[in-house]
Amino acid sequence: MSEQPDLVVLEGVHKWYGDLHALDDVNLSIAKGEVVVVIGPSGSGKSTLCRTINRLETIDRGTITIDGRPLPSGGKPLAALRTEVGMVFHGFNLFAHKTVLDNVTLGPVRVRGDAPDEAEQHARSLLERVGVGDQADKLPGQLSGGQQQRVAIARALAMDPKVMLFDEPTSALDPEMIKEVLDVMVDLARRGMTMVVVTHEMGFARTAADRVVFMAGGAVVEESAPEAFFGSPQTQRARDFLSTIL
Ligand code: ADP
Ligand code: MG
Repeated sequence: MSEQPDLVVLEGVHKWYGDLHALDDVNLSIAKGEVVVVIGPSGSGKSTLCRTINRLETIDRGTITIDGRPLPSGGKPLAALRTEVGMVFHGFNLFAHKTVLDNVTLGPVRVRGDAPDEAEQHARSLLERVGVGDQADKLPGQLSGGQQQRVAIARALAMDPKVMLFDEPTSALDPEMIKEVLDVMVDLARRGMTMVVVTHEMGFARTAADRVVFMAGGAVVEESAPEAFFGSPQTQRARDFLSTIL
C-alpha cells in the first residue's frame, strides 16, 4: 500500500541490567499515525521500551530506527532526536520555578532557536488546545495534577515531535483528573499523531489504540487489534493479566 517505511522500527532489541534481561528480542514496527498501547505486568519492560526509543537507555543488541535513521549516540544529533520524540511520564517533570508558558517555550527557544514571540504564540495555542490556556502565567505548583500533565503534553508538542511516548501518564493522578488527560490524548490520536502509550487505562486502549502490545518478562508476547486482544487473548499470560485488571 504505502511506500513509506514505518516511523519507529525496533529489530531484535535486547537490553540487560546486569543479569536482568529487561528487553528480550523486541521487534516492533510502528507506522506513521499509528497509536500503539503497551500493557503488561509491572516489571515487564514497558518503561524500558519507551526509554530506549529516545535513548534515555542504550540497548545491548539490535537496532532502533526513527524515520529510517538509526538512533544517534550523542551530541547534536541526539539532542535533535529528543526533539522528534516527545515523552510524557507519570511524574509531570515541569520546571517548578518557571511559569507554565515558559515551560512550553523553553525547548523551542533554547534548543531549536525559535524566535521568542513565535514560540510564545505557538505555546499559547497549544495550551489552549489542551484546555489550560488561562493558566499560562501561573507556576506549575499552582495547577492541579491533571492540568500539569496537560502542560507537559503541550510542552512536548511544542517541539513538533514525530512521535509521542507516554509512560503511564495518568497513574499519578486523582481519578477525577484522569479523563481530562485521556481526552487530550484521544484528541491527539485523532489528529494523526504517532503514539506509544503505556497505560492501564483499558478504556483508552479500546477507544484510541490501533494495536495493543502485551509485554511480559521483557518480551512482546501478544500483539493485536484491541477488539481481538480484549475479546480473545491468545496466551495464558495475557488472560491472567487481563483478569487482574478488568
Ligand atoms: P515496567 O515499566 O513494565 O514496570 P521496567 O521497564 O521499569 O518495567 O523494568 C523492567 C525490569 O528492569 C524490572 O525488573 C526493573 O526492576 C528493571 N529495571 C528497570 N530500570 C532499571 C535500572 N535502571 N537498573 C536496574 N534494573 C532496572
Ligand atoms: Mg513502568
